[in-house]
Amino acid sequence: MTHGLDQAWAGRRIGYAEPMDMLRLYIDGGYVDSDSGQTFHTVNPATEAIITEVQQASDADVDRAVDSARRGFAEWSAMTGAERGRILNGAARLLRERNEELARLEVLDTGKPIAEAITVDVLSGADCVEYYAGMAATLKGDHYDLGGDFAYTRREPLGVTGGIGAWNYPIQIACWKSAPALACGNAMVFKPAELTPLTAARLAEVYTEAGVPDGVFNVVQGDARTGQAMVAHPGIAKISLTGEVGTGKKVMAAAAATLKHVTLELGGKSPLIVFEDADIDNAVSAALLANFYTQGEVCSNGTRVFVHESIHADFIGRLAARAEKMTIGDPLDPATDVGALISEGHFQKVLGYIDMARDAGARLVCGGGRPPGIDRGWFVEPTVFDQCTDDMRFVTEEIFGPVMAVLTFDSEDEVVARANDTVYGLAAGVFTNDLARGHRVAAALDAGVVWINTYNLTPIEIPFGGYKQSGIGRENSHAAIEHYTQLKSVYVASGDVDAPY
Ligand code: NAD
Repeated sequence: MTHGLDQAWAGRRIGYAEPMDMLRLYIDGGYVDSDSGQTFHTVNPATEAIITEVQQASDADVDRAVDSARRGFAEWSAMTGAERGRILNGAARLLRERNEELARLEVLDTGKPIAEAITVDVLSGADCVEYYAGMAATLKGDHYDLGGDFAYTRREPLGVTGGIGAWNYPIQIACWKSAPALACGNAMVFKPAELTPLTAARLAEVYTEAGVPDGVFNVVQGDARTGQAMVAHPGIAKISLTGEVGTGKKVMAAAAATLKHVTLELGGKSPLIVFEDADIDNAVSAALLANFYTQGEVCSNGTRVFVHESIHADFIGRLAARAEKMTIGDPLDPATDVGALISEGHFQKVLGYIDMARDAGARLVCGGGRPPGIDRGWFVEPTVFDQCTDDMRFVTEEIFGPVMAVLTFDSEDEVVARANDTVYGLAAGVFTNDLARGHRVAAALDAGVVWINTYNLTPIEIPFGGYKQSGIGRENSHAAIEHYTQLKSVYVASGDVDAPY
């Protein structure tokens, strides 16, 4: 399958954007060459064609970005919150204006369907920038009356912060990290995942055009080595990572050397529980969305679907009928439901888990491999396994692909215990028409987000993040402000010092 877009975009200027034949670093308000002399290339997951060469940042480039961010921070943090908010509002507007261009770039990089990218990815990033733009002027401290003396607190930025992104939602992740950071007066050095470098650089252009001072938002490109240089850098006060649990552990350990603040948004293997009194069609819709949206490459996906024994046969029948009708193929076709997985390595990993499920004795309901008739690109059919057990490896480990495991249960206590029996705790779904049960089970689940009768809705207003090994800290909402600021207490005396000597 070809869609010719790679060629059409290669080497062409898109507005004021960098040509697509070589992506450079974005430091101090513009594109600059890396001093490493090294490049890597990115590949369109749907066509296996090369998209562009990308310059790999060296440690010296990271130094340069941090120096630039320090200078940017001095200017940016001296502005009022209202001034910062006005500029960030302008950036949100520009993101909306560039939605189509950015959504197409996101599709090229990730392989996800354009129908998703154009309605969610960029616009949710814009929502986020707008939300924190509004919040910038509301940051304030408290006043403490101490009987003559008094104290107050100032909520101050941390300085230069570092953001490290995953490849599944590149621009949304870049916005989720940079918008609260910048609203609070911080500067940021951001590194997108090496598989999806395009849109973070465009976000930097947008910030510059909106009036964010040079150096406040810098983008360094590269792999784990670049991320490690950021985490080790003494000039970076905080790292916010989105990635795998293993990467989170490494980042946290390395950040200890300079006692950086860390926010970690990591993986999951979330339960989606369907009780006997649930609206079955609604639960089926949610299970499809919670497993096959973005080809299943969503951290909060409800990949362990627990269905009450009494409705299991009905649920599986309706689920299979709808899963088999999903359209898989060209991500640039607006009718496509399921695009391509991010890379060949990931494709092989997901197929490996499908083999593992078969070997373990789970029953394949639908899907199970590369779709017939598509021989290029990293496509995997929406796949459902039934008759799964909690101990099967593919049921316990994060697959990050379109593979659903259906399990059955008898009682509420049993399903809560089984749902919680995992090292992860990112999210969960509860489907029931019993109000009291919905709240009771939501309270009992070890998860940072619980959806009742819906799934995977992450509006910017509500905190997002994980329990247990799914993460530390929260993104979105007012909670993120606390992770990008520090509190200073100022004590003001009304009289002389009362020294006892
Ligand atoms: P990854 O952990 O392989 O890489 C994430 C980022 O970390 C990349 O930019 C990578 O270059 C960088 N990195 C890798 N090793 C590093 C190191 N030692 N030091 C510093 N940086 C390093 O993850 P991925 O494969 O890009 O993304 C998929 C994972 O991300 C999944 O586990 C998924 O669940 C998780 N994820 C979580 C959320 C969330 O909000 N909780 C959202 C999206 C994805």
